[in-house]
Amino acid sequence: MSEPYELDVLNPATEEVVATVPGATPADVDAAVARAAAAQRVWSAAAPADRARVLRRFAAVVDGHIGELAALEVREAGHTVGNARWEAGNVRDLLDYAAGGVERLNGRQIPVPGGLDITILEPLGVIGVIAPWNFPMPIAAWGTAPALAAGNAVILKPAETTPLTALRLAELALEAGLPEHLFQVLSGRGDIAGDALVRHPGVAKIVFTGSTRTGKQIMSLCAGQVKRVTLELGGKSPNIVFADADLEKAVAAAPMSFLDNSGQDCCARTRILVQRSVHDRFLELLAPAIESVVVGDPADERTQMGPLISKSQLEKVRSYVPDDAQAIRGSAPAGPGFWFPPTVLTGVDPACPAATEEIFGPVAAVLPFDDEADAIRLANATDYGLSGSIWTRDVGRALRVSGAVSAGNLSVNSHSSVRYWTPFGGYKSSGLGRELGPDALTAFTETKNVFISTEA
Ligand code: NAD
Repeated sequence: MSEPYELDVLNPATEEVVATVPGATPADVDAAVARAAAAQRVWSAAAPADRARVLRRFAAVVDGHIGELAALEVREAGHTVGNARWEAGNVRDLLDYAAGGVERLNGRQIPVPGGLDITILEPLGVIGVIAPWNFPMPIAAWGTAPALAAGNAVILKPAETTPLTALRLAELALEAGLPEHLFQVLSGRGDIAGDALVRHPGVAKIVFTGSTRTGKQIMSLCAGQVKRVTLELGGKSPNIVFADADLEKAVAAAPMSFLDNSGQDCCARTRILVQRSVHDRFLELLAPAIESVVVGDPADERTQMGPLISKSQLEKVRSYVPDDAQAIRGSAPAGPGFWFPPTVLTGVDPACPAATEEIFGPVAAVLPFDDEADAIRLANATDYGLSGSIWTRDVGRALRVSGAVSAGNLSVNSHSSVRYWTPFGGYKSSGLGRELGPDALTAFTETKNVFISTEA
């Protein structure tokens, strides 16, 4: 049993402590699960239209607090204010979308001789959502909104560094009329509160987003209880640029495809694969685009990139980029804060760690390729398989390469990966299961098959 503890929350742009929050102990997790289980029984018995109405009210209350939530995210995570507003809006949209599914969560009727066969989708019970620090609000909502809509209770454990928006969302839920204890937020350490949630027999499913290392550990603990688990892990996504692409457009889109959120994005296109015949021209155009990215105060509307989340993340990113590395480099503020400039490594060995491992910072590597087969080989030369982009004017090639790249979320002539109404998830070591999209609610149900004999 661990002692009571607290967590300091730092502003990553200034290194100042902006808040201190309580840390949940295993005993706190125990108590929260018992409260959640009781609330869930009442919630799942309520009329679907009533549950949907409460979730829509929650969405409306979040909508009324977008500015406040965004300001909190700027302070605790260093997100640019424009991104932070979008993230709070994403929570609202997810709640609305999930609310629309409550009355549409249908079972099936299957032809079976001698009677009637139906499937019933039952809620799982108490869901544990373990969220990371890179997108604290959206990722918390990806699990929470559909789980609630499907009739479950949720206990959310935000990351140590970014608990503030999650804690505020729990208050807003109560303000919106969500039943007490149905959605609880426990701030705390991963190895204490997160671990207790994973091990708790009263938690039916864990939705985890974070590192592959922690994800594997959680999966093996879940296996011991045959607990349901969804894993959204890392990525090392390719941005494949063929010689026949609209090169200006591909170059213009490349910087923010790996610099958004300071590169702390599991879908970041950090391996820029460029067909050899246009490689030099691509770099010539890319250099000024990288150098002109505005890095600085995340609260300033003009800023495109803020700091990294923490000192340890900064040290990790630095370890991949030696001072004498051949690279295109942008700018970053000096002084306090966890700053790293936009960096594109050129002339790197495709097998080196910077080209194969997830850095989770504003660093990409450009790698030349010869032809379509070579591009596919390079794109798949990683343990990850989350996202990727294909730039070409040839529709047949776009479809062939989309089919051949082992990744869950691909885009052609764009870098879009995540929409709340389309499925999202990884191949290979990037994860297990899918979130979002039309089946999001079903992932929080158990299917029961019932056969009713009609024999006289
Ligand atoms: P992490 O995986 O350790 O943390 C993610 C979440 O898991 C946090 O809420 C944390 O408290 C919790 N957690 C940690 N250990 C746990 C345990 N034993 N049991 C239950 N919960 C636990 O990630 P991190 O240490 O914050 O970051 C390390 C690296 O992970 C980053 O550098 C980056 O490469 C990667 N990462 C990926 C994503 C993603 O979206 N895929 C998000 C965050 C971090």
